[in-house]
Amino acid sequence: MQKLDVPGPSKLFSLKPEGMGTPHCESLASYAMRLAEAHCLDVGALIYRFIHPLTGSAWKDSRSQRSVYRIDRADLGSLTPAHVHIGKWLDMSNETQATVSALAELTKRPDLHLLTTLPLKGYVKKDSVLRFQRAWCPVCHQEQRISGQPVHDLLIWSFLDVYVCRRHGRRLRTSCYWCSSKQPILRFWSQPGQCGRCGIEFDTEDTRSYGPTFEEAWKADVIGDLLSKWNKLEPGKRKRPPTLERVLTSSYSTGDIMESLLPQQ
Ligand SMILES: [Zn+2]
Ligand SMILES: [Zn+2]
Repeated sequence: MQKLDVPGPSKLFSLKPEGMGTPHCESLASYAMRLAEAHCLDVGALIYRFIHPLTGSAWKDSRSQRSVYRIDRADLGSLTPAHVHIGKWLDMSNETQATVSALAELTKRPDLHLLTTLPLKGYVKKDSVLRFQRAWCPVCHQEQRISGQPVHDLLIWSFLDVYVCRRHGRRLRTSCYWCSSKQPILRFWSQPGQCGRCGIEFDTEDTRSYGPTFEEAWKADVIGDLLSKWNKLEPGKRKRPPTLERVLTSSYSTGDIMESLLPQQ
């Protein structure tokens, strides 16, 4: 009898990321929040129990190690541990790669690197791409909730050069409308579409639109277009890659940027 090559069951639910292959792709931090929610866990507990045991040696920052061991202690409200820092989730670092690998092993999903900026590695300078805080469009959250789609954060909102949601002509927010709290990329009990401090949903705030400048709209369009082709970027090999800002300002059209980044056919 022929032996079938059936992969083993995943340890965690093989949750499908939202918006994969589009400009509206979910971020890995958002995915972790939803994965934790699917298992009735705080995201901190998900990290502590499942992710960190697989990434321990790769998360070299000693502050993060100590934070992980302290994570199950009380009163984590005021704590923003290094291990929930953006560097472990969305950037092009080895730590992010380790996080992706751990989550891929736990969920049996091979495509989770597409929820980070890892595909840009070698094309642009490592530290020039992301803002260090959570940003969001409250109208996007509102639409997701109304349409019955899972509420999630988009990867494009983490880009330093993106100030505006092009779908709603709305400037991205980086602090809670209700408690003015700036949001780290993850907190111990972060939940999709909610303030990590006061817990109020982001979509209950002021949702008026405004007219973005030509440059703001253009940058958001270019990066959105790039995200929709994320899976076509092959590993970059430049020794001294330019900053993303330089790539954006030295090109004149979306086509030029695509040509400079995507592999030639
Ligand atoms: Zn929006
Ligand atoms: Zn708040």
